[in-house]
Amino acid sequence: MKRAFSLICLGLYFFIGACGIVSADDSKDSAINYKSVIGDCESKNTILMICDGCGYNQIAAADFYENGSLHSQPYDLFPVILPLSTWSLSSYVYDPEAASKDPKWVLKGPTDSGASATAFATGTKTTNGKIGVDKNNASLLNLTEQAAQIGKSAGVVSTMPFSHATPAGFIAHNGSRNNYEEIARNMIYDSKADVIIGAGHPLYDNDGKPTTSPQYNYVGGQDTWNQLIAGTAKNREGSWTLLERKNSFDSLANGLGKLPKRLIGVAQAYYTLQEERSNGNAGTDTVGQVPFNTTVPELSTMSTVALRVLSQDTAGFFLMIEGGAIDGAGHSNFIARNIEEKMDFNKAVRTVIAWIEKNGGWENNLLVITGDHETGYLTGPQGIYQVAADSFAVDYDLVNNGKGKIPGYSWNTGNHTNQLVPLFAKGSCSDAFQTTALNVDLKRGNYTDNAIVGNILLQAMKRKKH
Ligand SMILES: [Zn+2]
Repeated sequence: MKRAFSLICLGLYFFIGACGIVSADDSKDSAINYKSVIGDCESKNTILMICDGCGYNQIAAADFYENGSLHSQPYDLFPVILPLSTWSLSSYVYDPEAASKDPKWVLKGPTDSGASATAFATGTKTTNGKIGVDKNNASLLNLTEQAAQIGKSAGVVSTMPFSHATPAGFIAHNGSRNNYEEIARNMIYDSKADVIIGAGHPLYDNDGKPTTSPQYNYVGGQDTWNQLIAGTAKNREGSWTLLERKNSFDSLANGLGKLPKRLIGVAQAYYTLQEERSNGNAGTDTVGQVPFNTTVPELSTMSTVALRVLSQDTAGFFLMIEGGAIDGAGHSNFIARNIEEKMDFNKAVRTVIAWIEKNGGWENNLLVITGDHETGYLTGPQGIYQVAADSFAVDYDLVNNGKGKIPGYSWNTGNHTNQLVPLFAKGSCSDAFQTTALNVDLKRGNYTDNAIVGNILLQAMKRKKH
């Protein structure tokens, strides 16, 4: 897609040292015919798991801590493993040449989670801060709406407030990710979603304790919350059933109780389920040193609930599951919480894989696991270091200190980066990611892109066999 542009860019880089300014034509990949790439293939159920703020080294850190070895997760055995670019229209088109020459290049102009979620959800690049709209604020068809159009169900799950950028990007349309009340109301009243699960509870704090100063911003305001409590809130498909308590999530996940047709789950914590709990120390904590909140479900439990509700639809579904708070730990440069959140995500991955293997297998299900961008520029202990007056290198490799031990590391920013992140895919139509990965990175080989992934998912979900 950006091949011609990248060549021009490469030339410019040598002459004026500037490159990657985004042109309008980069918003949609017109070079790939997704209909012919997908052909007759159909993914009955499509599950996209987004590890927010996860690059190669966030995965490595949790691998070392959890198992004492790299590439030790089930997704490391998936047939499709590719690098993925995440740039937005506010940032720089990923430039392999520039990235390989200067390790600091990826610090410039990264995407935010709103633009990256929009690219995954709609197949179209947008500018930072946008939710489900293009750079001119025009609404884009998203995976949830595509599912509804073809008679399938759809939902989102996150460890962050459900109206936060990533889950919102798959359901809502708004020019600013910060309009939480509007976005939440858009998701609750105007969407065709069937499942919405996350944090953002107005009456609980970040330690999962009742608060004396309620904050209703993430749930659409006090009136909307009262309607959810009363069971009178409806979207364009029907009424919502509200779930709040940990034991209610546990019961539904364990097959107890009647499954609602349309579920909104608001776990009893405010900004994150676990990551923002108080009394942490970024520099010295070990994993789990501050006791976990006990009043909220794990991501794997919320994922099971979502899968059970959505799979009542025999036509199939789309589900986005986000490990959202990994990003926050990256911004805070908080390694222990980063690993905790990644381990919670890894557990959810195992749960989803087990569900797929019992429910139609890989012929009927497509599972994609990826990041929306890297956060923190996590590297080995030496970080980015100077090798000559105008030249820098980077220590990519974390030091494995064995299972149960924090690896040797260093953070190099409190922001996102524009570096490639890994994508893992298995199941129906997953070959398409490989065949459309046409751009080449000098370090990591052929790579795909978040908007390409969005276009493949939109096409793969369509019903073709009758
Ligand atoms: Zn972030």
